[in-house]
Amino acid sequence: ISPEGEGKEKDWNERTEQIAELEWVNNVEYFITKKLCVWCRVGNGQWHLGKIQSSTGEAACVALSNTEVVEVSMKEILPANPEILEGVDDLIQLSYLNEPSVLYNLRIRYSQDLIYSKAGPVLIAVNPFKKVQIYGNEIRSAYQKKALVAPHVYAVADAAFDKMMRGESINHLHDGESGAGKTETAKYAMQYLEALGGGNFGVDNEILKTNCILEAFGNAKTSRNDNSSRFGKLMEIHFNAKGKICGAKLETFSLEQSRVVQLSNGERSYHIFYELCAGASPILKERLNLKEASEYNYLNQSNCLTIDRIDDAQKFHKLMEAFNIVQIPEEYQERAFALLAAVLWLGNVSFEVIDNENHVDVVADEAVTNVAMLMGCNPEELMVVLSTCKLQAGKDCIAKKLTLRQATDMRDSLAKIIYASLFNWLIEQINTSLEVGKLRTGRSISILDIYGFESFKVCNLALVLLVFISFDCVMIQSPLFQNNSFEQFCINYANERLQQHFNRHLFKLEQEEYEGDGIDWTKVEFKDNQECLDLIEKKPIGLVSLLDEESNFPKATDTTFANKLQHHLKSNSCFRGEKRGRGFRINHYAGEVLYDTNGFLEKNRDPLHVDLIQLLSSCKCQLLNLFSSNMHDKSLKPANLSESMNQSVITKFKSQLFKLMNKLEDTTPHFIRCIKPNSNQLPGVYEENHVLQQLRCCGVLEIVRISRSGYHTRMTHQDLATRYGFLLDTKLSQDPLSTSDSIMKQFNLPPEMYQVGYRKIYLRTGQIGLLEERREYV
Ligand code: ATP
Ligand code: MG
Repeated sequence: ISPEGEGKEKDWNERTEQIAELEWVNNVEYFITKKLCVWCRVGNGQWHLGKIQSSTGEAACVALSNTEVVEVSMKEILPANPEILEGVDDLIQLSYLNEPSVLYNLRIRYSQDLIYSKAGPVLIAVNPFKKVQIYGNEIRSAYQKKALVAPHVYAVADAAFDKMMRGESINHLHDGESGAGKTETAKYAMQYLEALGGGNFGVDNEILKTNCILEAFGNAKTSRNDNSSRFGKLMEIHFNAKGKICGAKLETFSLEQSRVVQLSNGERSYHIFYELCAGASPILKERLNLKEASEYNYLNQSNCLTIDRIDDAQKFHKLMEAFNIVQIPEEYQERAFALLAAVLWLGNVSFEVIDNENHVDVVADEAVTNVAMLMGCNPEELMVVLSTCKLQAGKDCIAKKLTLRQATDMRDSLAKIIYASLFNWLIEQINTSLEVGKLRTGRSISILDIYGFESFKVCNLALVLLVFISFDCVMIQSPLFQNNSFEQFCINYANERLQQHFNRHLFKLEQEEYEGDGIDWTKVEFKDNQECLDLIEKKPIGLVSLLDEESNFPKATDTTFANKLQHHLKSNSCFRGEKRGRGFRINHYAGEVLYDTNGFLEKNRDPLHVDLIQLLSSCKCQLLNLFSSNMHDKSLKPANLSESMNQSVITKFKSQLFKLMNKLEDTTPHFIRCIKPNSNQLPGVYEENHVLQQLRCCGVLEIVRISRSGYHTRMTHQDLATRYGFLLDTKLSQDPLSTSDSIMKQFNLPPEMYQVGYRKIYLRTGQIGLLEERREYV
């Protein structure tokens, strides 16, 4: 079912759908006479199981399982799978691949605590939100000995390990909505690998411990996850020739900085702030002039200081242990804590308006003296930096007072710079301690835990309950309105690239198996998202280039940017400009997203305040000096002037993404899609619409759809002969391959519906169901 090279993925998709539909429509009579189950969508949009009693072609009378009889349009009816396929552990085994069948299958498994399933080569993990007895030493060693084969993150890790030992470089990609379980699943994978490759250099114990540091500094409570990762990470674990861990390397992506200074109601800033306030010893508290969390504006703005069942003080002690394991000297630990306290006190720095143009001075109070003390700078200098900006007038430099808004931004920028630099410094410390260095062996497994696709629907009050949210890091206009802004654009762009990687590999694997088994295989074109990527990346007329161009234009505004996009991009089918205002829409693989250009230019320019960098370099704090020299290196080195200094945020993001993609290209990926079964983080609750939304967004339905075009039921000739051989009219052959052939011929399976390989028989979707029915009605 190839699109004959026209590259029209949409057509192809429609055609596969049509073919599936055609098969089903032709089968309706068969479903009636055999009293086979169907899915039927009734008034409330829910799918119910039932049996068709009669059909007019347009509509049908269906007896639901609760004995009610309803009349529904044929469009609302889909075939259900035979009972033998109920709860199969791989979705590709389903004869009928439709949304209700996939949802039902996952639901049945979830109700039995079978949280892992497969969709072909992809592992699906549905978050149980409770302890499930499927981890631990015994289970782990069973997977290691290959005594257990059910879908599991251990099985994925084990397969990855085996492949790596055979010389392939591997990565696991975790994908899913916020709170879906990416980080937890990643930890289980690491645990497995640590157990497998442990006992060599001592590094293996450290890898899991680093999670404690990363989570304290990079995770926060959000409305969707009490322990939400606010950064992406790639952990590369290296092994020696004997399969023992000999080092690891951590890379992180785009920490959400705005969280340090601005919180939505009911959310928290990074855990570390609350842990420090709750867990610091009285001596440390005194040295840092540290108060309760509730005293700090950066923390008390969101009516949320604690998390149920979490003891911040205890977490702080665990963090100190981890710091010691990673060998961060105590002296530096205290410096890091001092900087955290400085950030907290910065939030309490206030301003007074001194003229009717809203210009301000810093209020000389406890807050500003504490910040100066903790940063090791002069309070007067700090006050000047926070309330003025230097302007070059000819040869002279004049200081201009800032307005209240500008001064607040300056103060918040300083807090964000300190926090983000501290985070990066910690990652460096962790890497030094996990150092692969000279031990780099070429044998590695990487685990990528990255933020999922994200969309806020801007909606009116009446529709607020319909909002589907993944995670947020945007400026909030009002608690009920959130716009998709620059941050969402970056995240979705990254996901678009990952999706392309995902598609390509999915097909590659598939085709390799067909070729390996010698079957006649016409290459299947797959739904490519190249057009969307072109829209974003193409030079010189792509969204990124246009954004950079406009960001360099002093007179440009968000509206002129929106107009420019409309003018240049309207011919791309993935783009839709809004008739009025600053909005534009992108048709991403996961759905259409409406973006608001408000703030795009400013966020993309992200001006580095030279005054702030100078302040940091003048402080009596080695860490701050180091941070400032790092920033200096990145921004001011003459040699880099044209590149780095002018490099916009989106360009930096793009090059980081390309580096990541290059790395991924060289490895064999294993995809794990994490699904969140309900929005309240509750165990045992499986909300169908919520699950469906994610299956669609993270592309699971896509794999399922793609699966229709391949031969997704595979059985060894032996298994086929054992199950269906007795149906043959002729004498059973000794050779399972000939038996397979005879079975296909006797039951008149159309030749395009199957292929006979050396080892296996390959059937198109739906065919095994037909064989199964024959078997039952003998
Ligand atoms: P985010 O994108 O916000 O970082 P995430 O996908 O990383 O979200 P996790 O933090 O891994 O989500 O999971 C959220 C919570 O779900 C965990 O804190 C834990 O309580 C629960 N959870 C996830 N996976 C499992 C599991 N396999 N077993 C038990 N509980 C789990
Ligand atoms: Mg996470």
